[in-house]
Parts: sequence; C-alpha cells; structure tokens
Amino acid sequence: EADWADYDDVDEQHEDEESTAGQPVLAVVGRPNVGKSTLVNRLLGRRQAVVKDTPGVTRDRVSYDAVWNGRSFTIVDTGGWDPDAEGVYASVTSQAEMAMSAADAILLVVDANVGSSATDEAAAKVLRRSKRPVLVVANKVDDQRAEAEVAELWSLGLGQPYPVSALHGRGSGDLLDEVLRAFPETPRERFGGGGGPRRVALVGKPNVGKSSMLNKLVGEQRAVVDETSGTTVDPVDSLVELDGEVWRFVDTAGLRRRVKTADGTEYYASLRTKAAIEAAEVVIVLIDGSNPLTEQDLRIISMVIESGRALVIAYNKWDLVDEDRRRSLEKEIDRDLVQVRWAERVNVSAETGRAIGKLAPSLRRALESWDQRISTGRINSWISDIVAAQPPPVRGGKQSKIMFATQAHTRPPTLVLFSSGFIEAGYRRFLERRFRESFGFEGSPVRVVVRVKE
Ligand code: GDP
Ligand code: GDP
Repeated sequence: EADWADYDDVDEQHEDEESTAGQPVLAVVGRPNVGKSTLVNRLLGRRQAVVKDTPGVTRDRVSYDAVWNGRSFTIVDTGGWDPDAEGVYASVTSQAEMAMSAADAILLVVDANVGSSATDEAAAKVLRRSKRPVLVVANKVDDQRAEAEVAELWSLGLGQPYPVSALHGRGSGDLLDEVLRAFPETPRERFGGGGGPRRVALVGKPNVGKSSMLNKLVGEQRAVVDETSGTTVDPVDSLVELDGEVWRFVDTAGLRRRVKTADGTEYYASLRTKAAIEAAEVVIVLIDGSNPLTEQDLRIISMVIESGRALVIAYNKWDLVDEDRRRSLEKEIDRDLVQVRWAERVNVSAETGRAIGKLAPSLRRALESWDQRISTGRINSWISDIVAAQPPPVRGGKQSKIMFATQAHTRPPTLVLFSSGFIEAGYRRFLERRFRESFGFEGSPVRVVVRVKE
C-alpha cells in the first residue's frame, strides 16, 4: 500500500509540470498595413515590440507572451509575408490556414477606413471554415466618426466587427475582454497534448549553421533582422511549418540577431543554449559534420540529456563530408556518442537542403517516445522476467530485491524501481538498456530512479 502512495505522489508532480505548458494561443491575421503589428504591440502593452524594418512588413512569424486580467496567453503574429514569393492574396490565405492549425482564437484585422477588400474576403472565406472563434477587428477607428464604416464589415460573415484604434488604444481593452471570452476553457488538444505547437530548440556551437538552418526551414531568406531594429525588441519564438505541422522554434531571437559579446564569443551560444533547451520539448543539436566532434558539442548534448528533453542529432554541412571524413566520423560516434545511441541522427545540409525533410519525422518520433507511457502491468511482468534471469548483483552479502516498478513520469519517461536495498549504477544502466530494447523510446532520454523501501 505504501508503495502505491509514493507512486501517486510522483504522478501529481508530473501533472503540475504539464499544466503550465497549456496556455491558449491567439493568432493575428490580415493584409499588410491594416495595423497588425501596431495592434500586437497594443495588446502586449508595449512591454515587447514587434520587429519591423519596412513599414507594413513584419519580417517573421513570431509569438509573444501576453497577460490580460490575470490570464496569460500567447499572441502569434502571422504577418510575415513575402510579396515576391506568393503575392499578398495567397499569403494572407496561407496565414489564415496557419492560424487555424495553431491557434485557439483568431483575430482577422481589417482597415475600417478602406473597408473589406478582395483579400480580406478571401481570408474570411478560409476562416469561416475554422472551428475556432474568429473575431473581426475593424482597425483605425480613431474616433466616433469612423465608427460609421464598421457596420459594413458584417459582410465578411464572421459576426460582429470590433472597432479598435490600435494606434491610440481605443477599444483595445474591450477587444481583449472578448478574446478571453472566446478562448476555450482548456486549450485545444494538439498532437501529443499540451498547449500550442510542439516546442523545438535548435542549438549547437557557433558556426555549425544554426541561422542557415533556421532560414532554410522558414523557407525564405528573411530571418536576418538588422541590428538597429533588433536591439530594442525581443521577439521570442518563430513558428515554422514542417511536414504539414506547425512547430514553435523557441528562442530564435538570438539566431536572427547576431549579437556578439565583447570577447567575440557568440551571445547565443554562451548564454542562451541552456535557456532554449529548457523552453523546448525536443532539441535539435546541430553538429558540423565536416569537422571533428568537439568537447563543446558533447557538452551541449549532455545539457539536453540532463534537462530530460527529447533529442535529434543533425550532422550539418554534409555537402562537405567525403568518404574519409565519413569513416572518421563513424569512429567518433562509436567512441564519444555511446551514451546517446538512442538518439536519431540525420545527415543534413542547410546549404543544399539535403535531408531537411527528415527532420520533422525524427522530431515526431522523438516526441512520441518522450510522451510514451508503458502500463504498470506490462512493466512489472517485464521486470520480473529480467530479475529472474539476471538478479541485481549481491553487495556486502546482501541481495537487493526489486519489489515492483512503474513508469511514474513521461516527458522524460522515468522508470521508478521500488527495491529492498541499494541498486548500483551499472545495474540501473543495464535495466535502462533492456527497457529500451523492450519498449523503444528512441529519441528520448529515459531516467531510472530507485526508491529503497526498508
Ligand atoms: P501591419 O502591416 O498590418 O503589421 O500594419 P502596421 O502595424 O505596420 O501599420 C501600418 C500603418 O498603419 C502604420 O503606419 C501604422 O501607424 C498605421 N496604423 C496602425 N493602426 C492604426 C490605427 O488604429 N489608426 C491609424 N490612424 N493608423 C494606424
Ligand atoms: P551559426 O553560427 O550556427 O548560426 O552558423 P551560420 O548559419 O552562421 O553558418 C556558419 C557558416 O557555415 C556560414 O558561412 C554558412 O554559410 C556555413 N554553412 C551553414 N550550413 C552549411 C552547410 O550545410 N554546408 C556548407 N558547406 N556550409 C554551411
């Protein structure tokens, strides 16, 4: 009985951890120049600001943490668009699609002075299919007089338009009240549960190709932001669509801004790697495949394991890897990466785009393992078979007995063994190996914890 009480205890902690991840997501959609960035700044209360380098063009899809009336939520600005690539019309429609796959509520921003244009109508048509609440924001209603234009926006077929002046703040409090009302009680269930798109960190030592890779994944060369606008703002994350799914690449600000410290070491590498790993669920560690593995690479991998995050190792610059290098690299892997034999490796090139498409499936598999829970029944029949065949070693004339085992946590999967005495590290590692052989867990660290019951 006492054993089960312990198990419940561990499980509750786990539930707490999960509940903090589930904040709702608000997406902001609309044509260029309708005032999306101004509105996002307004909704954030100017604690953070949206990066702009050309008026009317937000350079990236970024998300920000906001609080209203004590409720926190995430604002996603889907404004990043590239007129050369697809034209305004197609880009606004794809923003709308993106918002529908990622958000709990959506704001369609329209310039009330202009009225609804063909582009607004196209976006509205997409959004009318949304199962999520959509609010039409009639922006640039700076005074009473402008209110007259608002009623026309009922024609978008998305219900009542909300008059707002993002510039002056008129109506923005009422809009936020409506937004909170529109959010579902609990954020929508997504792949694997939790709130919002799955969170990915892209880390690695300087010059392995992190920015190049982010650019490649975003699909357009727009991730570099100029220093002057970059210094005053801190957009946190980038939303990237890979393989039909939206992913939240965390803390990419340091990748977009190339801030160097006085001694020349890269700010991102020295200070933010740990923070990015902590903020993520799954981490891509980028390694320069064309050069020997370094201590720094191994340290970053250890950080991921210690933090208990799912892991994908990507060997970048594969376009520079020849037969000789490939052979030496295999030796390095055998020698230095034994402790992460469970991590998937992909050989990629940010330069040529080689195997980039393999990243999303690897991320997905790693997260599946990270989320996987094996029932206590299966684990106990597994452990009794193993212990019968190879019992824990006898120490000081005493044989520890494993009474039972359970997987008390996911994220990362944690196997808890209840035993009558000390179980040494070698035997714990042996159990971890057998646990993986029996149940998989590729791409995820697995923890083995022993609870001694006297
Ligand atoms: P975005 O391209 O949709 O992100 O639009 P911006 O936020 O960059 O705004 C485009 C222009 O509209 C800027 O010059 C803003 O100052 C202006 N603007 C935004 N909101 C308002 C508003 O409520 N009233 C007025 N008069 N101008 C606004
Ligand atoms: P970061 O410091 O990790 O963000 O690395 P960068 O993205 O700035 O890349 C460092 C250098 O490596 C740049 O000169 C890139 O052009 C180059 N690079 C990045 N990825 C590749 C690749 O896959 N192949 C080759 N040949 N060069 C690459």
